[in-house]
Amino acid sequence: MKAKTFKGGIHPHDCKHYSNKAAVEDFPAPEKVIIHLSQHIGAPALPIVKKNDVVKKGQKIAEAGGFVSIPMHSPISGKVIQIAKFPHPTGTIQQAIEIENDGKDEWFSKLKDEENYFNLSVDEMKNRIKNAGICGMGGAGFPTHVKLSPPENKPIDMIILNGVECEPYLTSDHRLMLERPEEIIAGLKLIMKIVSAKRGFIGIELNKKDAINLMKEKLKNEKNLNVVPLKLRYPQGAEKQLIYAATKRKVPAGGLPMDIGAVVQNVGTAFAIYESIRFQKPLINRITTVTGDIVKTPKNLRVPIGSSMSEMLDFCGGTNEEIGKLISGGPMMGFALPQIDTPISKTSSGIVFLSKKDVDTVHEQPCLRCGRCVDACPMNLVPTFLAETVRNGMYEEAKKMNINDCIECGSCSFVCPSHIQIVQWIKVGKLEVGKLAKKANEK
Ligand code: SF4
Ligand code: SF4
Repeated sequence: MKAKTFKGGIHPHDCKHYSNKAAVEDFPAPEKVIIHLSQHIGAPALPIVKKNDVVKKGQKIAEAGGFVSIPMHSPISGKVIQIAKFPHPTGTIQQAIEIENDGKDEWFSKLKDEENYFNLSVDEMKNRIKNAGICGMGGAGFPTHVKLSPPENKPIDMIILNGVECEPYLTSDHRLMLERPEEIIAGLKLIMKIVSAKRGFIGIELNKKDAINLMKEKLKNEKNLNVVPLKLRYPQGAEKQLIYAATKRKVPAGGLPMDIGAVVQNVGTAFAIYESIRFQKPLINRITTVTGDIVKTPKNLRVPIGSSMSEMLDFCGGTNEEIGKLISGGPMMGFALPQIDTPISKTSSGIVFLSKKDVDTVHEQPCLRCGRCVDACPMNLVPTFLAETVRNGMYEEAKKMNINDCIECGSCSFVCPSHIQIVQWIKVGKLEVGKLAKKANEK
């Protein structure tokens, strides 16, 4: 199978065998859910319910906090227990709405099936996406209605669906492509209609040949839609790398995909878009992989948003040994969590449980100037110098070296023989450069 790719990047073990054969199972509605107000990029949502309010499944419980924001809905029927701070899947503590399940499973408004959904106006489609509270479900969490509203001077001619799932361990997108291909394709066509794009691609890596073949079969009579098989390489699922791999178009430094006429959406987001437009279904559940070498029965679960990771692990039979590390998301770009009773969010593609022996405890050594981090960087940066300038507090210098172009993929840290936490230094540097820019604007 002829396959494409991008420059740079790395080849970590994909570790997908734990869960890639596990068909999606429904995780039963839990006794309580915790719905965070910030599950996306942009302003947090604003609660419109209070303690002791009775809510139904699918009912809006928080309004979007601005244009770049999304509303939240209850995935269960029940009672609001409190609005308070809870552990967040990013490892922080943030404001959320806790709801206790009444076990009635009553919908706020029965889902409609609008068979002629494709003939709706573009404005109505965008409204339905906005009201459903959809954000990028591959991890980035950018509000989808905003991404699908590019300015008029940025015409979009192609949509790329991201079925790459290059993070080790995760298999939720893979299973979705195998089990719901028609709905994903319907979502792709809706996105194309919304932004008037003429061509659509679905990028999938070669470790998902079954999904590539299935999607090719489903698209065999479609003139403008194609599957793009991609070689295995991390971080191919990052927007700029995927666009280059699939089309050879380059997003300019500091630019966005829309600058070169492209919009990228995750396959899970395309599925949610389809459900929001056809059934007016709010985003209240998602598929999340529960996996890792110590999980007794790794699974792909369709889970109500706000379910506890701890209960999801119990549903998978628990672990065979003590947990060494819990990661929300994949091991490359995910967040190590201190607490297992953290709820999942709209961007939780997976939770990974690693044993103590898998957890890296080696100590940092001086830089060898070997250049491996430079070869691995998909953004053509010089990670070793960036880390050094940040370590020495030289933030202006780091800015000049385009630190903000770093996509925090962690490839540099992964290949470093001296175990230098390069990406952690770069993250610190980006925050400091942001503070400098803010200060300059205030003057
Ligand atoms: S510098 Fe940034 S973009 Fe380059 S490899 Fe490191 S984390 Fe990835
Ligand atoms: S990979 Fe590590 S040791 Fe090699 S140049 Fe980069 S920072 Fe230095």
